[in-house]
Amino acid sequence: MTQVYNFGAGPAMLPAEVMQKAQREFLDYQGMGTGLIEISHRSPEFEAVLNRCDELLIELANIPSNYKILYVHGGAQMQFSAVPLNLLGRSPSKSASYIETGTWGVKARKEAARFGNATTAASSADSGFDRIPAFDPASLPADTAYLHITSNNTLYGTRWHSFPQTGDVPLVADMTSEFLSRELDISQFGVIFAGLQKNLGPAGLAVVIIREDLLGHALEQTPALLDYSVYAGSHSLSNTNNTFAIYMMGLVLEWVKEQGGVATLEAQNEAKAQLLYDVIDASEFYLGVADPAHRSIMNVTFNLAKPELLDAFVNQALEHGLYALKGHRDVGGARASIYNAMPVAGCEALAAFMRDFERDNA
Ligand code: PMP
Repeated sequence: MTQVYNFGAGPAMLPAEVMQKAQREFLDYQGMGTGLIEISHRSPEFEAVLNRCDELLIELANIPSNYKILYVHGGAQMQFSAVPLNLLGRSPSKSASYIETGTWGVKARKEAARFGNATTAASSADSGFDRIPAFDPASLPADTAYLHITSNNTLYGTRWHSFPQTGDVPLVADMTSEFLSRELDISQFGVIFAGLQKNLGPAGLAVVIIREDLLGHALEQTPALLDYSVYAGSHSLSNTNNTFAIYMMGLVLEWVKEQGGVATLEAQNEAKAQLLYDVIDASEFYLGVADPAHRSIMNVTFNLAKPELLDAFVNQALEHGLYALKGHRDVGGARASIYNAMPVAGCEALAAFMRDFERDNA
C-alpha cells in the first residue's frame, strides 16, 4: 500500500496499528474460531470488552467516580435530542441555553426547541463563526436546565480554550471532534458527549459522560432508547448495542494508552497544528479562517487568496497522497482535520506541500 494521509473530518483515519489488529482478529477473536461481532452482546467476551472501555476511559479522560459512562446509539446528533429530553425536566419552564459557534450548535438548539425553550445565549454567526463569542455566565436565567456548547467546531476550526464557569447550571459539551485530544477537568461539565467517528472509532455511536445527579429527569415522552437512565441502568445493553463500534473503540483506547495517554497526544496535537498554522501565518497566499486566539488543534481551516486555485490545490494534494482537504460545503476553502491518529509526518508532508504549492502559484 502506498502511504497516504487522510485529512477527512470524519469518519476519519484511525491508527494503522488499530486497523491491523482488528483485521487480524476479525475472523478469529482470541482463538474462539469466530469473530467478536458474531457473538452475543451479553457474552463474557463482549462484556470484557465493554468493561475495558469503561476502565480505559476513566483512566485516560480522568473521569471522576460520580460520573456514568454511556454508549448511546445514533451518533452525536442523536444527543442533540437526547440531551434536552433528559435534562429539560430540571427546569420548571423547560428552558435551556445554547452558545452558537457553528452549524452543530445551531442544529442542537433547533432540536432542543422541539421539546422546550431553547434560547441562544451567545453567537458568533455575525463574524462567520470565526471565533468563540464573549459570554457572561451571570446572564443565564436562574431556571436554565443546562448550557450547551460545542467545544471544538469541526467546520470552522475554532475551539474553546477555557470553559465558562456556569455554577449550578450544568455545562453540556459536544466534544465530538476533540474528545481525548486534550486534558480536561471533567468536573467542570454536567454532560460531555462525543460521536465516535473522529478520535474514537467508527461512526454511529456516541460516548456520553454524565454526572450522576443529572440522571432521572427525563421528560415523560422520552423514548426508552434515548433515556440516559436506561443506559446507565443496563450498562448500555438494554438492547443489542453496536458491539463492533465498541470493540473498535476499545482498540483505539488501548492505542491512546500506549502512546502515553492524553497529555502526550495533546502536546503532539499542538505541535502538529503549529506546523500548519506556521505556514498560514507566514503567507499571504493562505488565509486562516479562525481568529488565531480561538484556533482548533483538530481542524485547521484556511482559504486561498486566489480561490480559483482551490480545486487545483485539493487535486494536486491528492496526487501527493494528501486526502480530503476540501473544506465543508457550508464554509468552503480548505480544511485539514488532524485528529489523534494523524502522525506528525502527515502534517509535515502537508506543510511541505503547501509551501511548494504557494511557491509555484503565488
Ligand atoms: N457535532 C460535531 C462537533 C460534529 O463535528 C459532528 C459531525 N461532524 C456532529 C456533531 C454530528 O455527528 P453525527 O454525524 O455522529 O451525528
